Amino acid sequence: MHWLFGDQLGPHFLTRGAAGPAVDEPLLMIEARSVFRRRRFHRAKAHLVLSAMRHRAAELGDRVTYLRADTYREALARVATGPSLTVHHPTSYAALRLVRSLPQVEIGPARGFLVPMEDFAAWADGQGGDHLRQETFYRWVRRGHGLLMDGDAPVGGHWNYDHDNRRPPPRKETALPVGAPYRPREDEIDEQVRHDLDQWEKKGDVSFVGRDGPRLFPATRTEALRALNRFIEHRLAAFGPYEDAMLAADPVMSHSLLSSSLNLGLLDPAECVEAAEAAWRDGTAPLNSVEGFIRQIAGWREYVWQVYWHFGEDYRRSNVLRHSAPLPEWWNALDADDVRARCLHTVMAQVRDTGWTHHIPRLMVLGSYALQQGWDPAALTDWFHRCFVDGYDWVMVPNVVGMSQYADGGRMTTKPYTSGGAYVHRMSDLCGPCVYRPGDRVGETACPYTRGYWAFIDRHRALLEHNHRMRQPVRGLDRLPDLTELRHEQQADDGGPP
Ligand code: FAD
Repeated sequence: MHWLFGDQLGPHFLTRGAAGPAVDEPLLMIEARSVFRRRRFHRAKAHLVLSAMRHRAAELGDRVTYLRADTYREALARVATGPSLTVHHPTSYAALRLVRSLPQVEIGPARGFLVPMEDFAAWADGQGGDHLRQETFYRWVRRGHGLLMDGDAPVGGHWNYDHDNRRPPPRKETALPVGAPYRPREDEIDEQVRHDLDQWEKKGDVSFVGRDGPRLFPATRTEALRALNRFIEHRLAAFGPYEDAMLAADPVMSHSLLSSSLNLGLLDPAECVEAAEAAWRDGTAPLNSVEGFIRQIAGWREYVWQVYWHFGEDYRRSNVLRHSAPLPEWWNALDADDVRARCLHTVMAQVRDTGWTHHIPRLMVLGSYALQQGWDPAALTDWFHRCFVDGYDWVMVPNVVGMSQYADGGRMTTKPYTSGGAYVHRMSDLCGPCVYRPGDRVGETACPYTRGYWAFIDRHRALLEHNHRMRQPVRGLDRLPDLTELRHEQQADDGGPP
């Protein structure tokens, strides 16, 4: 019997290796309610995961034994798995521990990523140290997979088009002029999922955060392929220039919205990057946009997956900055309405309503605020994991602990990602009508990000002055005429919504 976890739903999880033989034995899927009981997930995330699993089970028909149980172990005790149970490498340490503890389980290679773990380990060994860099890794993947390559050189002569891809949003526009993203239509399986979630909640079995609403992300391979095709044909061309920009009334801009489909295993990253490269070769999308998108998948996504395993299970407990404050209740409850800072209010409302925002709101609005406030990085990782439709342990730990909270002291990134309000102002239309002013550090109208930024640099000066990318801001501290006042105001912050 072959076991499919809930994030192993595409056809590539039904072959033995990259090009190996098909899995032809009976299949097992388990819907374990304890997963939802342990943590307060976003309602939209619980809906998407259950809907995707049940759609897959419906497609597989008689081939699959679909068990609903309290725990995985309880389900496994109920089923005759035959002489052996096979499974592809799971995506979290907890799930790996579980399958390793079972008798006669054969664990196959991980699927759904471009680089085998052993190849990454060999590459990382060759980097001569623990401080790995995504850019170096990404170029190695490009070469290895012949992605956007012209012999041994990158097509167009450059590896990186970041200088074309970091534009502020077009001024006067409230939305990017691009085609709408694909949105699925719900069916009777979704109706049943919604009914079940309502019942569980009514019984007091589980509780959710966030609002329920129409399912916005693909639950089947067919839907995911439609989303990929719509993106490649109508939206990829505009992806690059504004990928770091934010517009209050256009949360999606030209982002692909493919993360949940990739992470559920409905899409394989290879088909996404190949489709993007084909669009450039056909002349339907410019190189800067195509390179920017391929970098996200073959660079960042792949790197994050590899780092999760390479740095080991204790990596999640990194806390170099010794941040330990608990997350406040308004944050845990996604209570956007009490937040006056327009950027945080807007982004938190997006998360509350959909379980998704794009990368820059995650990094420079949500993550940056938590870093400035000194919140516990492990608690924040858990929050992101629960509240985002695409959140899984492997992707949240490096993104939050490493990239967003600098809790690993720079093993994954070269500097902490945080900024004052000036960055948000430059890259969005969020600050204009805000009650706070991005340029004010102290006083009634001080932007919480601007004050928080300087307070963060001040608090961690001893560590940051040794980082060459942070030396300038650290020097800037000495030129602040109002540092004492700023410290008092930051200390007086009661942790309530800004
Ligand atoms: P696009 O902007 O269209 O990018 C294309 C694809 O690239 C994404 O679908 C995603 O698969 C991949 N990608 C890009 N950056 C990353 C990255 N840093 N890590 C992993 N994949 C990446 N992504 C998740 O898939 N799940 C998460 O739980 C998650 N948590 C994050 C938490 C924080 C604090 C930050 C800063 C980033 C996080 N990301 C996460 C990465 C990124 O924000 C999302 O992948 C992206 O916003 C998803 O939207 P999209 O599909 O429209 O992405």
